[in-house]
Amino acid sequence: MTTDPTLASHVPSSVEVFDTTLRDGLQVEGVSATVEDKLRIAEQLDFLGVHFIEGGWPGANPKDIEFFQRALTELRLTTSAMVAFGSTRKPKGKVDDDATLRNLIEAGTSAVCIVAKSWDYHVLNALQTTLDEGALMISDSVEYLRAHDKQVLVDMEHFFDGYKRNPEFALRALEAAIITGASHVVLCDTNGGSLPHEVEQIVGDVYRHIGDDAIIGIHCHDDTGCAVANSMAAVRAGGRHVQGTVNGLGERTGNCNLTTVIPNLQMKLGIECLPAGRLERLTSVSNHIAEVLNRPLNPQAPYVGSSAFAHKAGLHVSAIVRAKDAYEHIDPELVGNGTRFVVSEMAGRATLTIKAEELGLAMDGPAINQVIDDLKRLEHEGYHFEAADASLELLMRRATGWQQDFFRMESMRVITDELPSGQFTTEATVKVWVGDQRFVQTGEGNGPVNAIDTALRAALASAFPALDRIHLVDFKVRILDGATATGAITRVLLDATNGDRSWTTIGVSANIIEASWRALEESLVFGLLHPGE
Ligand SMILES: [Zn+2]
Repeated sequence: MTTDPTLASHVPSSVEVFDTTLRDGLQVEGVSATVEDKLRIAEQLDFLGVHFIEGGWPGANPKDIEFFQRALTELRLTTSAMVAFGSTRKPKGKVDDDATLRNLIEAGTSAVCIVAKSWDYHVLNALQTTLDEGALMISDSVEYLRAHDKQVLVDMEHFFDGYKRNPEFALRALEAAIITGASHVVLCDTNGGSLPHEVEQIVGDVYRHIGDDAIIGIHCHDDTGCAVANSMAAVRAGGRHVQGTVNGLGERTGNCNLTTVIPNLQMKLGIECLPAGRLERLTSVSNHIAEVLNRPLNPQAPYVGSSAFAHKAGLHVSAIVRAKDAYEHIDPELVGNGTRFVVSEMAGRATLTIKAEELGLAMDGPAINQVIDDLKRLEHEGYHFEAADASLELLMRRATGWQQDFFRMESMRVITDELPSGQFTTEATVKVWVGDQRFVQTGEGNGPVNAIDTALRAALASAFPALDRIHLVDFKVRILDGATATGAITRVLLDATNGDRSWTTIGVSANIIEASWRALEESLVFGLLHPGE
């Protein structure tokens, strides 16, 4: 790795990554994590190789107390240090009877991070105390934690807003932390309203003021969409410690996204963030954490999203294959992602040929023409194969003359009843053939798709035990109004997984049950075709 030669001489050749997914990241609306989830996430962060994992605020809730107890006994972290988060002592309070500080010490981590007020407005109005007392709260707390052998990082809340209005007090807050032994002062853009040129200038001022007396950190929120850019600006001005969350999780618009800022710093500026060989774990860690938190990853996320290196341009595909670096800003494998060719009706012959090779299908010219014709017709009807990789594969296989011979449907019926209690029940009956054996089964469900799925699985269970491993994970219905001359059409996308891989199928019809059935049938067929290990 070579460092960008245009960077100023004080720019570090490596920075520390401080992950706050388990504390700030969990402030995001609609996400909650159990202690078990948090332990699994911590393992992923260690696997990725961040320097610090902020585990939570011990004492704020019983969950975080349990987390620290179990993290320190159950986890075998090899690259990351666990950090407990808290705050300075209360105004006019004493350090030795402050519950927050006591909880920090009892959490048992070697490093702690405390939040401190560096904006005079907050000290005077939120804390209702004097600036002298504001500075003392910081120095007393750091001194006390140092006396208990803790490494102390201080998050300077609202630092940029504070510095713009009263730089003397903002710097005084930093000094209060540094002279009492804080290893890091982390400048926080808590309201997230700053822009890169302001951050670069203010961090530069701070660096000129404190030099290397403490490590300058940066903690940005993404309210201007600049959290990553602001963090990079801070590093260019002398910051050596970057805080953020995986997938940018966090309150409001989120925090600095580590899955973007790490490759930006490491691959674009040549500033090392992770131990050697770890960057290629980024995509898998990002997906894993998204899954644990049940928070789907944005497909367009830079570097790690499923679309980050997906090419749709049919005409250009053969050119892309010849010279990938002409169309991709980095080699996707370096971050553990991969190039993908997206097939839609715009697809040219080259895209389909590549796709067929990927699938190991021997397709000649006429078979490819057949697929192109089918795609055009079906996409006109409302199909959307870009999103449905499994249905596309089945369509391509059929063009080679293949037909699924796992099972054959004779008939299917769904009945929905409203009971006197006002509740709805749905029951499906399927009649299906496997070879020359006929199976008839009834299944109940909370809706028609669920009922058909239950009945069909019951019918096929003895012939195909592998169906046990296939789970439907998501079901999206979209009404395509006016997309065709025939009126409203329903498009159903079904996501399924067998634990090893996930796939998506599609069904389109004027009838929602039929559309669902098409997607379901293809989903199970695809699962049987790819049983995994
Ligand atoms: Zn924050």
